[in-house]
Amino acid sequence: MRPRDLLCPKPAGLYCPPGDFHVDPVRPVSRALITHGHSDHARSGHGAVLATRQTLDIMGLRYGEDFAGSTQEAILGETIDVNGVAVTFHPAGHVLGSAQISVEHGGTRIVVSGDYKRRPDATCLPFEPVRCDVFITEATFGLPVFRHPPADKEIGKLIRSAEQFPERAHLVGAYALGKAQRVIRLLRDSGYGKPIYIHGAMATLCDYYQSEGIDLGDLRPATVEGGAKGDFAGAIVVGPSSAFADRWARRFPDPISCFASGWMRIRQRAKQGGVELPLIISDHCDWDELLETIVETEASEIWVTHGREEALVRWCELQGISAKALHLVGYEDEGD
Ligand SMILES: [Zn+2]
Repeated sequence: MRPRDLLCPKPAGLYCPPGDFHVDPVRPVSRALITHGHSDHARSGHGAVLATRQTLDIMGLRYGEDFAGSTQEAILGETIDVNGVAVTFHPAGHVLGSAQISVEHGGTRIVVSGDYKRRPDATCLPFEPVRCDVFITEATFGLPVFRHPPADKEIGKLIRSAEQFPERAHLVGAYALGKAQRVIRLLRDSGYGKPIYIHGAMATLCDYYQSEGIDLGDLRPATVEGGAKGDFAGAIVVGPSSAFADRWARRFPDPISCFASGWMRIRQRAKQGGVELPLIISDHCDWDELLETIVETEASEIWVTHGREEALVRWCELQGISAKALHLVGYEDEGD
């Protein structure tokens, strides 16, 4: 079977004609397969949703239990027949519950990786390379300039700064799903034993991670009413970066603004956002990891989506691997 007859871009997202389903559709469809819980991939209002249990749980927490007409759990490594198409979910290493989706029919296997990373992350299962004919890769950081430093080195900067300025609070901006929990867990794994304060918007997902056996240590609300400013002296506070611009942030003593994101590699971007302590911590592959993964899948064809497609397509062509950009719209990297 020709790959383009198995999966093709449609306005709602990647569509599988023989299986009659979409992968990570950006508008409501009758049957959706979802790679992970970030809001640009997992939307509410589909007829039927097939995803890992953790992704289904996360969608339920974010959208309410009636987020889809019906749901079905995909167990990692187990093949499910969807209208004659063999579908298998494999870990993607991006956030809790994240999966790549292998779609196989008529002797052709395409793997849709969704978002993925290769770095160790104690908050989710590691990425598993899957051999395939066509590998569909994201390209969020698909330029050679993006090389992520070790995450524990970045966390070390935060811990040292907190020690150096015991009278100030450190406000760490991080996406609510995945990045926040990873930053907290990295702090714990670096020996930071003090309570960590979290914004209310993160509480539900942090509780969920803890209930799934991911130990985040002593977390406390950063929204204590009537507390004195000095209460947060020396504290590390994790919240959505949007909250740091509003009144909520004013309760903290002389705060130092930090942001955990792969984009912090771009100094200009940190500066524009008023970030004093940029932490280059990403839940996506950097350039080298994208290349390494493409080689490992042994795919003869690469389809590149959401991000900087051109450089990656060019690199593949130079290696003699056929490649094209899919130009899918609607993926805004909720968690980078
Ligand atoms: Zn994502």
